[in-house]
Amino acid sequence: MPQETVTQFRNQFRGKLTETTDPEYDEARKVCNAMIDKKPRLIALCADVADVMKAVHFGRQNDLKVSIRSGGHNAGGLGICDDGLVIDLSRIKFVHVDPAARTVRVGGGCTWGDIDHATHAFGLAVPSGIISTTGVGGLTLGGGIGHLTRQFGLTIDNLLAADVVLADGKFVVASADENSELFWTIRGGGGNFGVVKSFLFQAHPVHTVCAGPMLWEMDQAADIMKWYREFIAQAPEEINGFFAFITVPPGPPFPEHLHFKKMCAIIWCYNGPMEKANEILGPLRNFRPPAFEFVVPMPFPMLQGMFDGVYTPGMQWYWKSDFVNELSDEAIALHIKHGSMMPTLHSTMHLYPINGVAHKTGINETPWSYRKAVWSEVIVGVDPDRAKKEAITAWARNYWEAFHPYGAGGAYVNFMMEGEGEDRIRATYQDNYERLVQLKTKYDPGNFFRGNQNVPPEGSTRNAA
Ligand SMILES: Cc1cc2nc3c(=O)[nH]c(=O)nc-3n(C[C@H](O)[C@H](O)[C@H](O)COP(=O)(O)OP(=O)(O)OC[C@H]3O[C@@H](n4cnc5c(N)ncnc54)[C@H](O)[C@@H]3O)c2cc1C
Repeated sequence: MPQETVTQFRNQFRGKLTETTDPEYDEARKVCNAMIDKKPRLIALCADVADVMKAVHFGRQNDLKVSIRSGGHNAGGLGICDDGLVIDLSRIKFVHVDPAARTVRVGGGCTWGDIDHATHAFGLAVPSGIISTTGVGGLTLGGGIGHLTRQFGLTIDNLLAADVVLADGKFVVASADENSELFWTIRGGGGNFGVVKSFLFQAHPVHTVCAGPMLWEMDQAADIMKWYREFIAQAPEEINGFFAFITVPPGPPFPEHLHFKKMCAIIWCYNGPMEKANEILGPLRNFRPPAFEFVVPMPFPMLQGMFDGVYTPGMQWYWKSDFVNELSDEAIALHIKHGSMMPTLHSTMHLYPINGVAHKTGINETPWSYRKAVWSEVIVGVDPDRAKKEAITAWARNYWEAFHPYGAGGAYVNFMMEGEGEDRIRATYQDNYERLVQLKTKYDPGNFFRGNQNVPPEGSTRNAA
């Protein structure tokens, strides 16, 4: 591409355009996962919607590969691409809370920490994930699973509207009343359909939650998993608890004798009165008293930020995942075998419950079709040291291969690496896949937005970036 073309684009662009020769280029191309080392041609840090529209036009006119970046947390590094244009939204940050309507409008570059900070002042929260540094864009468009899923549904179940720049550069609003087909696609279909400049969410009364981890020794993991599978199937909606295998971090609040120990854990979040939480959790405490617990009343944003210090940016991450309908005794034995072999301090396995209110939306109401699954499982090999890349990858793959036959078929798109293949994406969207293809053909016939878990339009030969 001639430099003059870039200069013309720069002259029309209000935000910051970073090129390969700029001193800040290497910093600007970093994403959360340090395994990803992609080198885009241009990084367009958009200042506003006009910049997003210009960037889309520029990318299309110059036939550039394009990626969209919000928080840069994507497992496979899909927020960035080689030799193409990154449409970066991280400067489009604003959070407007309407306390009367209990809604919140946010810029496409916000992190969930930005949103929680503003909504908390009004005793409100939007269901999101479990780490505050994750971007609103990728998490929402892929579904959004977190501490409030059982009580208020997935993040997409709380999406009311979005401002979208389409592949032809046009700006549209997507909601139940306006461009409703597009609105359907963006509730689970990822970044396939356009650049979302801002989101409007329904928020809920959430202020102080009774939350935190309970930990048990590995020799009690089978009993705990069996108890947990029965409990979560019928638990009140206001309690959420995800199961995890962890290695205890060497610092407070964990007692020294547990540091670096492999243990099993449930991380609770109860949004209701403290006494009721103790009533619900009392039987578990009597059944197998935890070796350690830190389940206390805390402001919701504190829970959301609880793991930020453990999972800092710049770690290498290798992700594998499945949806799960049931946990048989055999599957539990396999989990314990592989969970006991976690290769590094940060590697982990989480089973996130996706029942409760998340089950109340029909399987075709949004593209997110695994509405009847009970858990979304994720196995992640994580470590800051490059020398551990093979070890963390092999552990996650072996664990996943052993457990996959016990899974439900597909996986949460936000927990997939790049290039897992079209079969995996089809399996994930099930009978919503064909409708996604039809709407992709309507909104993005040239597959301009393909740096994602790609749903190619009809007749397309180009697949995921
Ligand atoms: C530490 C960590 C914790 C996590 N915890 C959770 C969790 O608790 N719950 C959960 O559900 N997920 C979780 N995830 C997964 C997370 O949802 C995905 O990684 C998601 O893609 C991150 O969104 P992002 O905006 O930060 O990513 P980015 O890398 O910026 O974007 C990812 C992709 O999303 C699309 N996209 C992003 N923004 C836009 C936009 N505005 N318009 C159009 N397309 C867009 C693009 O296709 C882009 O390639 C976690 C990830 C990490 C690394």
